[in-house]
Amino acid sequence: MPTAFVTGITGQDGAYLAQFLLDRGYRVVGLVHGSIASQTAIWRLQWLDILDHIELVAGDVTDLSSLLRIIETSAPDEVYNLASQSLVATSWHQPLRTCSVTGLGPVNLLEALRLTQSPARFYQASSSEMFGRTDGPVQSELTPFRPRSPYGVAKLHAHWMTVNYRESFGLHATSGILFNHESPLRGVEFVTRKITDGAARIKLGLARQLSLGDLSVQRDWGHARDYVRAMWLMLQQAEPGDYVVATGRVRSIHELCRVAFGCVGLNHEDHVVSDATLFRPSEIAATCGDAGKAQRVLGWEPSMSFEEMIAEMIDIDLSRLSGKRPTG
Ligand code: NAP
Repeated sequence: MPTAFVTGITGQDGAYLAQFLLDRGYRVVGLVHGSIASQTAIWRLQWLDILDHIELVAGDVTDLSSLLRIIETSAPDEVYNLASQSLVATSWHQPLRTCSVTGLGPVNLLEALRLTQSPARFYQASSSEMFGRTDGPVQSELTPFRPRSPYGVAKLHAHWMTVNYRESFGLHATSGILFNHESPLRGVEFVTRKITDGAARIKLGLARQLSLGDLSVQRDWGHARDYVRAMWLMLQQAEPGDYVVATGRVRSIHELCRVAFGCVGLNHEDHVVSDATLFRPSEIAATCGDAGKAQRVLGWEPSMSFEEMIAEMIDIDLSRLSGKRPTG
């Protein structure tokens, strides 16, 4: 039975990845920072009904000693580093924490693998935010990076350290440059879930208006379940590398609102307002990924459409708010 060590297991991707790995017969060891007993930390694992099948261990990616201990005791075959301060907007308010967790946390893990001489394969959760302001309409593994947020800068540091440990020490260290991916397990502080939750609230008469930032921003949005499959496929390759994972289709936040409110029979124009105070200090107007390499080498393709994903999110937000499912 192979062992996977997953940091960020209590987040959206960590929960789906854990489920995916358990289905394939893995022993899954998951890092939890803070209290393991905290209900808010583990709600996604409970939601997917996998909590009892995972070994949760206490630690922190900013604490090398905890990582050394866990790598030595759990002896993983694969390590997925998903832990992050992952909100772009928060990164302007907490740049140092973002650098520490998102930028240096991965280096602690790489060091833990190197110092323990672990043979484990390593996955780093890199991000399309590393591209930032780009000249061309589509970004691939060959596109230069020019990040536009402290989050993007921190991710870029971690990306290059992953490449560096691969080249310097021969680690099987892979960087997955993932474009935005969403699901009903997305935190409500992220714009997609804010919109589906907001549309559901308005439909149920719990709210009348939804305030958002810049509605013209365009993103390439896929489903998290598809994207964790890509992570696993990357670590099954004989050689490590860098892979862009994306759908290749862009939608604006305006379009997202139209689809989400349409799912509940409402016109978003009647309820959504663009609030300038919610604009970011610097924005990326549009991102669109070229996942050609992932398709060729990994045989990966997204299975779920944008409309199906938004419909699933709306459906579950309606159930949550009607008290038919636990909130999250
Ligand atoms: P998420 O839901 O925000 O999960 C982040 C996880 O990191 C949570 O489990 C969080 O635990 C944990 N964490 C935070 N600080 C930590 C620390 N100091 N030590 C250990 N764990 C810590 O993010 P996600 O959407 O699943 O994304 C997974 C990874 O992919 C992240 O690295 C993210 O930046 C990256 N990524 C995401 C996307 C996307 O669109 N979702 C795109 C590209 C890259 P608590 O919740 O308990 O704080």
